[in-house]
Amino acid sequence: MSCKVVLAQGISVSYREELKNTIKARNICPKLVGFLANEDPAAAKYAEWTAKTCAETGVEFELRKCSRNDLEDKIVEANQDAGVHGIMVYYPVFGDRQDQYLQNVVDVSKDVEGLHHKYVYNMYHNIRFLDEAKTKKCIIPCTPLGLVKVMEYVGVYNGILPHGNRLHGRVVTIINRSEIVGRPLAALLANDGAKVYSVDINGIQEFHRGVGLQLKKHEVSETTLTVEDVLPLSDVVITGVPSPSYKVPSHLIRDGAVCINFSTFKNFDGDEIKKKASIYVPAVGKVTVAMLERNLVRLYDYQAQDRASSTA
Ligand code: NAD
Repeated sequence: MSCKVVLAQGISVSYREELKNTIKARNICPKLVGFLANEDPAAAKYAEWTAKTCAETGVEFELRKCSRNDLEDKIVEANQDAGVHGIMVYYPVFGDRQDQYLQNVVDVSKDVEGLHHKYVYNMYHNIRFLDEAKTKKCIIPCTPLGLVKVMEYVGVYNGILPHGNRLHGRVVTIINRSEIVGRPLAALLANDGAKVYSVDINGIQEFHRGVGLQLKKHEVSETTLTVEDVLPLSDVVITGVPSPSYKVPSHLIRDGAVCINFSTFKNFDGDEIKKKASIYVPAVGKVTVAMLERNLVRLYDYQAQDRASSTA
């Protein structure tokens, strides 16, 4: 079998080394505060893992536990604390629209997860910078950004093409259209030039900037296509179905496709997929955490620039 299995650990190393070196060389100490206001053991595990990774790179991570009804006040407190550079919340907290409200309570200048409406709007509208001078890049949500980095690493992005068009000609299927990963990912990849088939239980949408990428941002259209139609057309298949029983039908995968799983469950049959895929990435979690820290250092710098310009 000629399939190359690429592990997230290997992909994250260069980002983590770069972060470590930057933090050490510049003698800075960016601080991330994580709020845990639910009883979800998976969230506690993720927090533990974030703490460990941050310690390795030199980021100060503080986990603050509180009741969900105190969370809003605690976020406001952290927003006002100049010693806190980044804030994240382990969702779901209320599991409804109140969570969306809380995402917007986090100050945009400290939102390491890129969940504030300003970032979300900019991402969907392909607005890449916060300022007209294009010195401050927008923050992109960590898992979709991590998946972009995975695709860059394995060579799906074509470096000969200009930034912003490097997926021109690629066809990508994403199985999951959640608000947290699948839909933003479809938009990001389509804005970078791909034709994306976004699969969910209620149907398949196409995200695309049109033939020749004549549009500035992607458009979405409903299709009557099925998984049987889109998988054989796809250069890349990305899946995030949160179910242990779900398996992507390997026989539909194009010979030589790149296959990436971000679900906590194995959505690909490991043995079968290796017979078809050219590259198989079984998990991406470590890259996600590296992106979280990368976003933090970026926000740390923006805050320093803002302080410098307000005292100048
Ligand atoms: P979610 O439950 O919010 O969304 C899952 C989506 O998949 C839903 O839209 C659902 O309708 C869809 N879906 C379910 N079955 C499907 C099927 N058979 N075909 C097509 N679509 C189907 O979950 P989420 O937050 O998007 O997370 C999904 C998975 O990814 C989970 O396992 C989660 O733990 C994992 N995850 C991983 C990372 C990471 O960094 N590795 C980050 C976030 C989430």
